Amino acid sequence: MRIYADNAATTRMSQTAIQAMLPYFDRVYGNPSSLHSAGQEAMEALTSARERVAKVLGATAREIYFTSGGSEADNQAIRTAAILGKRKGKTHIISTAFEHHAVLHTLKKLEKEGFTVTYLDVHETGLITAGQVAEAITPETCLVTVMYANNEIGTIQPIREIGAVCRKAGVLFHTDAVQAVGHIPVNVDADNIDLLSLSAHKFHGPKGVGVLYARRGIVLQNLIEGGAQERGKRPGTENLAGIMGMTAALEEAVQDLDKTMPRLRDLRDRLIAGLAKIPHSALNGDATQRLPGNVNFCFEGIEGESLLLLLDDKGVCASSGSACTSGSLDPSHVLLAIGRPHEVAHGSLRLTLDRDTTEEEVDAIIRAVDEVVTYLRGMSPVWRDLMLGKRQFVID
Ligand SMILES: *Cc1c(COP(=O)(O)O)cnc(C)c1O
Repeated sequence: MRIYADNAATTRMSQTAIQAMLPYFDRVYGNPSSLHSAGQEAMEALTSARERVAKVLGATAREIYFTSGGSEADNQAIRTAAILGKRKGKTHIISTAFEHHAVLHTLKKLEKEGFTVTYLDVHETGLITAGQVAEAITPETCLVTVMYANNEIGTIQPIREIGAVCRKAGVLFHTDAVQAVGHIPVNVDADNIDLLSLSAHKFHGPKGVGVLYARRGIVLQNLIEGGAQERGKRPGTENLAGIMGMTAALEEAVQDLDKTMPRLRDLRDRLIAGLAKIPHSALNGDATQRLPGNVNFCFEGIEGESLLLLLDDKGVCASSGSACTSGSLDPSHVLLAIGRPHEVAHGSLRLTLDRDTTEEEVDAIIRAVDEVVTYLRGMSPVWRDLMLGKRQFVID
């Protein structure tokens, strides 16, 4: 038996999404740019997908640009705001240290190109406030980019309030909503968002397709040059099957939110309560301002990598930090940002549930983690020193 608890890394495709894609491989395979009927049939599907995605987000169809995923959308949103800002002599950007690397690495590049970036201080539960954003805005600020919900610790930021602050100051506001869309309600108008990134494979859609939402009036700047697709802003023949799968997955996820959110929160809290019983463990992130399916713990005296491998042996697929940083031995930049010391940040475990997770699975995860943590501590010299009082516990 295998329990998949790594849904923040990627999700299983839903049957609805798979079925929605199939016709676009061998029946409706025309190029939407072709003038003949086969092409026009594909174009009609593309147009309808754009309208359906827009409807879910509270946007209009002409504000939706299909991309290859969340990373591309993040890059293009930030580059766009930077280029537009620079034209007006505005080269200051506001963000946080807990963003996804698609955002952080783009910002690092912009810093080399002469931009200044303010990374707001993060509260120990992983939250920032709209007040901090308001204080950091200067006449030179061209962009505020703050993620909607964190991929590692699940923290949900006060996006609506941050957006309101930006709107009032006349500063563009981008949010990486890859972990939020399809998981909690998101509406670009109500949330005062100017630019938003999302990715299909995080809500049971296919990999390699996403959306950049850009509010009407924002002239997107190209990352890629080529044809007239996506109003010339994102050239390349459209991934129509992927787009159709994403659209179906999005509608399905959002339609069931009223039911899945409370159910997942219950499972999440059951898992948190179970893991909290392990001595010297601590929940990372906020207990309530948190994605319904996200659990992230630190266990003192443990190496995250060994924890993962042994859990995998027991049939539990989990993650330490994000998929993008695992493989490297650096502790998670998100856990460091919320003030976890290096040695504790190394012993972190992320478990992310989905709408198919059962109570039995949650209980099995708790048992497996308890066993593995006890086993690893039994072999750990660090744990021995802690027990002998030669070293101080960081987590009580
Ligand atoms: C997964 C993820 C991304 C990257 O999306 P891809 O479609 O995999 O490129 C960006 N931001 C966050 C918060 C993510 O979780």
